[in-house]
Amino acid sequence: MNTIASTDFTRLLAESVRSEKNAILRDIAAREGLLPLHADIGGVVVLDRNGEILSKGWEDTGFKVERMRNLRLASLVEGAQKYPELRALLPDKPSTARECPECDGTGRLAMAKELGLLCGRCGGLGWLDEVIAS
Ligand SMILES: [Zn+2]
Repeated sequence: MNTIASTDFTRLLAESVRSEKNAILRDIAAREGLLPLHADIGGVVVLDRNGEILSKGWEDTGFKVERMRNLRLASLVEGAQKYPELRALLPDKPSTARECPECDGTGRLAMAKELGLLCGRCGGLGWLDEVIAS
């Protein structure tokens, strides 16, 4: 698994505490030491210092490891838009990968371009490998 350096994580976390506009997410960064990647009506997805992706529903008390691959990917893609260092955590595109037909390889849904919604099929990567396609 790809990782980011602990010093990078510390810097990104400090940046999140300083600049995150959403008070709940800022609080998660400040109090729990977790870097918010994605939040929606269902809950929040964060990155911990070990490079693990965790999630929590708004009703839940604690974070747990997020198992849905596409949500993991999409959260990382979204996080990397804000923190380019996180690109290191995205999977490398295998030579056998094919362009995602859902988004024509853009990683974004064409019908909702102005909303910037990531493609749910490829998780925003723009390509599919055997694992994602299955
Ligand atoms: Zn796609």
